[in-house]
Amino acid sequence: MHKKCSRCGDDMEVILRNVMYRKKVKIMNVPVQVCQNDHCSHLQVVDVVKEDLKQLMENLGHNPQRQNIEFDEVSELSHLLVLMANQEEDGAVREALEGKVNELLDLFLLAQSLGDEEWMRELRQRLTKIMI
Ligand SMILES: [Zn+2]
Repeated sequence: MHKKCSRCGDDMEVILRNVMYRKKVKIMNVPVQVCQNDHCSHLQVVDVVKEDLKQLMENLGHNPQRQNIEFDEVSELSHLLVLMANQEEDGAVREALEGKVNELLDLFLLAQSLGDEEWMRELRQRLTKIMI
C-alpha cells in the first residue's frame, strides 16, 4: 500500500473496483491502486493479483456468458480488503487486517524487486484461496 505512482510520484491507495470483461462479465471487488493526485488519477491493478485475474480471464475465454464474478472468492487479498471495508466502525479489527494486507504486499514487492520468481509464486499461492 506504500506504492508511489509511476507517473507523478504521489502516494497510491488500494481500493476495490468492479471490472468489466468483454462487456459481459462483471468482476467484482478487484483490488486496484489509484493515484491520490486529482490531476493524475493513474490507475493500475495491484501486481500481486494480476496473475489471478489473468487466469480468470483466460478461463472465461473470448466469448464469455453474461455473469457476475466475485473476485474476493478467488483472491485472498481481495477477500481481506472486502473484510476491511466492512469493518468501518471497528477500528482495531480494521487495523489488524490492514497490517496483514500491507505485510503480504510488502513481501510481494520485495520478492518482485529481487526477481525471485519462486518466492513470488509461493506468496501468490498463499494469497490465493480456492473455494470448492
Ligand atoms: Zn499519479
